[in-house]
Amino acid sequence: MTTRIQHTDSWYAASASPHRRFPALQGEVESDVCVVGGGYTGLSTALHLRKLGFSVTLLEAQRIGWGASGRNGGHVGTGQRADQTSLEKWVGPGAAKDLWRLGHEAVELVCNLISEFYIKCELREGNLHLAAKKRHVQGLRDEAEHLSKVYGYDQLRFVDSTEMGWMTRAQGMHGALLDQGARHLHPLKYAYGLAKAADLLGADIHEGSEVLGYTDNDGAQVQVRTASGSVKARFLVLACNGYLGHLEPRIAGNIMPINNFILATEPLSKEQQAAVTRDNFSLSDTLYVINYWKLSADGRLLFGGGENYSSRFPKDIPAFVWPHMLKIYPELADVAIEYGWGGTLGITMNRMPDFGRLGRRTFYAQGFSGHGVPTATMAGYLLAAAISGDTDDFSRMAAVPTHRFPGGTLLRKPGLVAGMLFYSLLDRLGK
Ligand SMILES: Cc1cc2nc3c(=O)[nH]c(=O)nc-3n(C[C@H](O)[C@H](O)[C@H](O)COP(=O)(O)OP(=O)(O)OC[C@H]3O[C@@H](n4cnc5c(N)ncnc54)[C@H](O)[C@@H]3O)c2cc1C
Repeated sequence: MTTRIQHTDSWYAASASPHRRFPALQGEVESDVCVVGGGYTGLSTALHLRKLGFSVTLLEAQRIGWGASGRNGGHVGTGQRADQTSLEKWVGPGAAKDLWRLGHEAVELVCNLISEFYIKCELREGNLHLAAKKRHVQGLRDEAEHLSKVYGYDQLRFVDSTEMGWMTRAQGMHGALLDQGARHLHPLKYAYGLAKAADLLGADIHEGSEVLGYTDNDGAQVQVRTASGSVKARFLVLACNGYLGHLEPRIAGNIMPINNFILATEPLSKEQQAAVTRDNFSLSDTLYVINYWKLSADGRLLFGGGENYSSRFPKDIPAFVWPHMLKIYPELADVAIEYGWGGTLGITMNRMPDFGRLGRRTFYAQGFSGHGVPTATMAGYLLAAAISGDTDDFSRMAAVPTHRFPGGTLLRKPGLVAGMLFYSLLDRLGK
């Protein structure tokens, strides 16, 4: 039986040709590994496990790429989500270098998978990270210098406001970091491409197959249940991120699900497109509640801005995001907004992802904190390697200290919401 569940109504869903529907799980099956979640983490895990010769059953509650992986901004940033200076303090200079390397390998992995499996997902180069406050400029300069001196990274440079003005007519910005190692892409097409590749390699993929619970009592097998079937497997991978819900309370308190929103305009004129970005870079700013944007292949502005921390999305998402866009591009006031959508992502306290295992057979990776296009793809590679016995880089990621949200799943909301609102207030204050 195939699922009738639809993707959220986004420009991505409207512009990606639908992939084949995968049937819901029926009856009992046995596999080496059962993967729960059909976003980048789960798909990349399944794909890499097949490359290593493991049999895999992947269970997705909705559709492939239905979660954050099919709704995000499509920015493929370099490095880790946390900056290297913080990482050096948390884990020491040697381990920070490993994390930097892994961040780079993550971008490379995305590019290599796209070329290996001919994934047509509009991959482009370059990101411009704009200083939204004068006081952020020095931090950007310092970061470029630090990454060049300590890590030898030569694809990043500070551009002053004059040069920045040639690259974008974004208002209220004071200079930028240009990162030519960063990439951007169409996120849902990328997710479909990973699913197609995993399927071709022989992964057994099921949509409309929500995992209701599982038993892992450290015996020889894990048993995973859906409404219409079950999987017995030697290993289990939880790849549910912001949509984990109550499936595994032991890891739910390590992340906080938050909602973030994007609008898509009608296609812009050539002049309007050049005013957004002369070089077809992705763009973002330095605010705590980050604004991020890029052009689509058909010349629309895809602008992400604003988030909320409740279980509901705003009723009118375009109206919610529009003021953020207008502040940066007031000249686009009369452009029609044709789509608006939101998605849920998992963030961690220190913005580094949460990798780990529960007992001998259950592995997980989550909490990519807005940096999951590269990092969740890499997580899949590392999860597969760890299951095959090569745990080195998985352990390096797992060793980064994580902190549970105070109060775990029950109390994490009020405290965190207060914290987030405090920082978003700082975004609105001062120069
Ligand atoms: C609006 C938005 C913008 C973003 N922008 C960027 C960006 O520009 N760059 C970037 O790097 N990152 C960005 N991110 C973050 C990025 O999208 C995520 O980090 C990444 O997609 C996480 O992938 P994932 O596979 O771990 O999770 P998801 O893609 O969320 O997939 C989890 C899947 O698990 C399934 N699932 C959950 N519970 C069960 C169950 N019990 N049984 C079966 N299936 C289950 C869900 O249905 C879902 O499909 C953004 C996120 C959002 C929401």
